[in-house]
Amino acid sequence: MKQNNITILYVEDEPNARKLLSGFIKRFCKNLYIAQNGEEGLEIYKKHAIDIVISDIKMPKLNGIDMAEAIKKIDKNQLVIFTTAHIDSEYLFKAIELQVDGYVSKPVDLDKLKLQIEKCLVEINAKNIQKKLKESEERARTILETSQLGIVIYKEKILYANDVFLKMIGYTREEICNLAPWDLATKEERESSYKIAKRRLKGERFPLIYNDIVLICKDGSPITCRVNTQTIQYEGGYAGLATVTDITDILYVQERLKQLAQAMEQMDEMVRITNKNGEIIYVNEALTKHSGYRKGELIGKTNRLFKSGKHDSTFYEKMYNTIRNKKPFRATFVNTKKDGTDYYEEQTITPILDEDNDKIKYFVSTSRDITEQVKMQEKLNMLATKDTLTGINNRYSINKEIDNEIRRVKRYGGSFYLMMIDIDFFKKVNDTYGHDMGDYVLKKFSSIVSDSIRDTDIFGRWGGEEFMLIAPNQDIKGAMVLAEKIRKNVENFKFKKVKHITISIGVTVYNGSANKEELIKKVDNSLYKAKTNGRNRTIFQKI
Ligand code: GH3
Ligand code: MG
Ligand code: MG
Repeated sequence: MKQNNITILYVEDEPNARKLLSGFIKRFCKNLYIAQNGEEGLEIYKKHAIDIVISDIKMPKLNGIDMAEAIKKIDKNQLVIFTTAHIDSEYLFKAIELQVDGYVSKPVDLDKLKLQIEKCLVEINAKNIQKKLKESEERARTILETSQLGIVIYKEKILYANDVFLKMIGYTREEICNLAPWDLATKEERESSYKIAKRRLKGERFPLIYNDIVLICKDGSPITCRVNTQTIQYEGGYAGLATVTDITDILYVQERLKQLAQAMEQMDEMVRITNKNGEIIYVNEALTKHSGYRKGELIGKTNRLFKSGKHDSTFYEKMYNTIRNKKPFRATFVNTKKDGTDYYEEQTITPILDEDNDKIKYFVSTSRDITEQVKMQEKLNMLATKDTLTGINNRYSINKEIDNEIRRVKRYGGSFYLMMIDIDFFKKVNDTYGHDMGDYVLKKFSSIVSDSIRDTDIFGRWGGEEFMLIAPNQDIKGAMVLAEKIRKNVENFKFKKVKHITISIGVTVYNGSANKEELIKKVDNSLYKAKTNGRNRTIFQKI
C-alpha cells in the first residue's frame, strides 16, 4: 500500500489495543504519533501538524470526546475517527455535535478502520487540490493585476481586461465587456482585425507575433500599442489572450531622436559627444569629413587625437576647470587633422547634466573651422602694419614705433638712434631698367638691410625709396658702425642687371629733449646733408 505523506495521531489507553492498531495505522501515514490518554494526545496535537486523529473515547485523565472538543476548538475542520467499545447516548450526542468524521467499534475491525482512514485520505487530497488551485488562481490574478502589461482575454466580446489596459484605453471594466476587440481598432483596420480574431476563435494558432497597432481610446484619441496575441483555451472554448504595451511615447521619443540625429548629421557645424571620461561616443558627418577620420577611428578615443601641441597646459587647465564646474567653455582651438594639417576650430564644449542637475553625463561639443577667417585676419593685420611691396614695416607702423620709443625714453630715460636711408639716383634705375626692376631693387635692398640689423632694431619703408631705421640700445659709435655696415653691404651687393647702387644715410639721436616733429626734421636734414655732400655716405647730426 502506498504510504501517504500525512501525519496521524493515535490515542489509546489500553496497551494491547494500542500495540496492535499502531502497527496497522502506520501503514497509512508517513508520521505516527502515539498518546496514552487524552491529555497527552492534546499536548502532541498542539506541537505537530496532524492530518488525522484516531482516538479511543474512554480514557483516564482526559477522555476522547473532551480531547476532540479541545482539538476542534483549535481547528474545526480537523479529521477525527473514534474507536469505541460502547457508545452510550451521552457520548453519541457530543460526538455528533463535534461533527466527528468516523466511528469504528471495538474490538476494531481492521477493514472498517481502513475504510474510515481512506475516507479521510480522500478528503485530505481534495482539500490539498483545492488549496493548490486557490494558490495558483491567486498567483495568476497577481500576475494579471500587477503586470506592467495590459492584458486582455476575448472571444466575441472582451471577457477580461486588467487595470493596466483599462487605464490605457480609458473604458471602465463594465464598458469594455460590451465591446469586441475589433471595436478598439481604427476604422481602417477594423475589418482585418475582425477577420483575424474570428480565425483565432475557431482555434487557429498563429506563431507568436508582435504587432504595432493603433487603438482608439474611449475619448477618441489614438494610441500606438505593441500587441502580442496568443490563442488559448478558456472556459470551454478558444479565446485570444493579448498583452498590450502603449508605445506612443516611445515612438514619439524615437522619432524625435531620429530627427535630431538627422539634423546633426546634416549640420555644417561639427558635433562630437564624449562621455564623462572624455571618450568620444558620437561624431557627426561634418566632423568626420573635416578631420579626415572615419567614425570608427574616433569612437572610444579622446579628443587628444586632435591635439596640435600649439596650446600650453594652462589652456587645457582652464578648459577642464570650466567644464568640470558644469559651465560651457568657448575658445579657438588649434587642432590637427588626420593628414597632419592644423586648423583653427572655434569650439563650444557644454557639459550635459543628469536629471537632478547634479552629475555630468556627457560633454557636447559644437564647432566650426575658422581657419579661413583667422588667415584673413592675419592678412589684414599684416596689411595694416606691413609694406606690401617689401614686407617690412610700413610708414604707419614706423610712426607708431617712433612714438613708442619716444614714450619709453621719456619714461625710463636712455636714447634711441633714428636713421633715414635713401637710395641714390633711384629714378635712374627706373628710367634705365623699368619700374619692375626698380621694384626688385627695393625688395632686395630691404632684405639686405633686414639682414644687417639686430632683432631689436626696427626697419621700415617711409615712402618711395626712403626708409627709416630705429636703433635702440646704441651709443654714437655703435650707431655709426651700424649705418656704415648697411651702407657698405648695399654698395657691395651686385643686383642683377642694375649691378651696383649706393645709399645716403642721415642719422640723429633722440634723448628726450625734443618732440617728434623736431626729430623727423633733424633726421631728414641729416639725409639732405649726406646727399648734398656727395651721396653714398652717412651724416650724423644732433638735435
Ligand atoms: P636722389 O639721389 O636725390 O635721391 O635721386 P633719386 O632719383 O633717387 O630721387 P627722386 O626723389 O628724384 O626719385 C625717386 C624715385 O623713386 C621716383 C620714383 O619713381 C621712384 N619710386 C618711388 N617709389 C617707387 C616704387 O615703389 N617702385 C619703383 N620702381 N620706383 C619708385
Ligand atoms: Mg633717392
Ligand atoms: Mg627720395
